[in-house]
Amino acid sequence: MKKKVLLLDVDEVICFSGFLPVINEFLQTNYQIDDFEDYYLDNVLIPYDRKEEFYQFFRTKNIYQEPELLPHAIETVKKLYQKYDLYILSACINIADYDGSGRIFTDKYNFLRKYFPFIEPERFIFTSSKQLLKADIQIDDCLENLKEERELKILFPSYHNKKITEEELKKYHVIRAGYDWREGWDEVAKILLK
Ligand SMILES: [Mg+2]
Repeated sequence: MKKKVLLLDVDEVICFSGFLPVINEFLQTNYQIDDFEDYYLDNVLIPYDRKEEFYQFFRTKNIYQEPELLPHAIETVKKLYQKYDLYILSACINIADYDGSGRIFTDKYNFLRKYFPFIEPERFIFTSSKQLLKADIQIDDCLENLKEERELKILFPSYHNKKITEEELKKYHVIRAGYDWREGWDEVAKILLK
């Protein structure tokens, strides 16, 4: 039987990149990911008059050097890779810093090669235009990316999507893999690996 095509997001699904740690280093703070409800942490935390300075600082960092892998991400992706026709689908553009975004492609590529060596690199799709792809199943933490018609769309739980209502999910035929990112992969396994 032909395997179903599964599109899998990276940021906030496979890992938390070092974005918040870089902000903490810049501001000399100690924020944790659960302190926030807004997706764009730089918009919330970086004062307007320090934005330019922050992006210059950010450009010197590899946020995929020591990312925080989400619990059970690696072993569950490994199982999904056996069962599904899996593609990595991930945006690499920092919309606040187009000119500094090129290296994010390289850093994310190297991260995936290091932690997910079993995934063929030909299956990496780096784009912000996720809606162009055809697939049966999609996993993403942003509802914005789950509006195309698919057989099954799974919202991965994250700090920024807790308040999305059942009505909104229903409207786009999206189901949620729980509410806690710590348990997101266990929930995904229950849905896709039974
Ligand atoms: Mg994401």
